[in-house]
Amino acid sequence: MARKRVMTGDRPTGKLHLGHYVGTLETRLRLQEQYECFFAVADYHILTTRLDNLGEIEENIRDIVLDYLAVGIDPQKSTIYLQSLVPDVAELHLLLSMLISTTRLERVPTLKDMIRGLKIESPSYGLLGYPVLQAADILMARADLVPVGIDQVPHVEVAREIARRFNGLFGRVFPEPEALTTDTPLLVGLDGRAKMSKSLGNAIFLSESAEAVEKKVMRMYTDPRRIHPNIPGTVEGNPVFIYHDLFNKNKEEVDALKHRYRMGTIGDVEVKRRLARALNGFLEPIRVRRAEFARQPGLVERIIKEGSEKAEREAEATMQAVRQAMKMNYFRD
Ligand code: ATP
Ligand code: MG
Repeated sequence: MARKRVMTGDRPTGKLHLGHYVGTLETRLRLQEQYECFFAVADYHILTTRLDNLGEIEENIRDIVLDYLAVGIDPQKSTIYLQSLVPDVAELHLLLSMLISTTRLERVPTLKDMIRGLKIESPSYGLLGYPVLQAADILMARADLVPVGIDQVPHVEVAREIARRFNGLFGRVFPEPEALTTDTPLLVGLDGRAKMSKSLGNAIFLSESAEAVEKKVMRMYTDPRRIHPNIPGTVEGNPVFIYHDLFNKNKEEVDALKHRYRMGTIGDVEVKRRLARALNGFLEPIRVRRAEFARQPGLVERIIKEGSEKAEREAEATMQAVRQAMKMNYFRD
């Protein structure tokens, strides 16, 4: 039996952060050992929300690829590619856009969030089609599994519906892709807001220096009622302890800190200092590897070029099957 296919991606809006790590990168590392993985840097998707500063995209693409390599995504095992270098995705997007209604797309919760967050008066045709473009990425790779954070699950649902619709109308070409979330499908931000996000400015980046991590942690949101270290504090839902649970390998230390926090026998400063230390322990090997990769001239370019060529070959095969199924392979050799 053919190996299962995995497809997911990230928009090159900036460097990757801890939310990406626990939300999807960790799963990708596991999946690449077993399955055929496609990881896209989704530059077309940027255009759905911003047309200013497009000049930054190139640098952001480079950063994302370096972040991938730094955490251990291995281009020997996984295909890392650039969405716009696989233009078949745009053609598939056009065909798939006929298979879903605008009212259905208007119901996608992330659309409402984006419209609110970015203060958009009326979404562009392209923004409404964000999940359709994503469906094109996923179906292009004929993926079975899509490792994503919780916010992306409704998009994968759109991709499933489109796949089902296509298969029903034209015969089975696409597997119905399944979203795969982790135990932490939504990592809280440094400011206590629900989501750590590049655009909310509440993230710790995987490539951040030890000093910057320390500074950010010391300013983190914590139990606001604790104006004095001898006031018993709340551990549950406290971002400082959520991060301790996720990134501090020393479980005994974490348990002891929680106990003292609840009793009101420890200051926030100490809990945060220990968190900064734990986070830096986690991030240091990533930083070291990233710096090594960044020193190799032409490496990122080569990975993108080779990966995109491989993805393009897959895309061509998919488009052939699509045209055949739709009886649209006329006037081609
Ligand atoms: P932006 O703020 O520009 O939208 P982002 O930080 O939300 O950026 P995306 O590129 O939109 O990042 O997301 C890439 C992937 O990472 C998606 O699968 C998304 O669900 C996941 N992800 C992003 N932030 C988090 C988070 N805080 N917790 C869990 N998963 C996350
Ligand atoms: Mg996002």
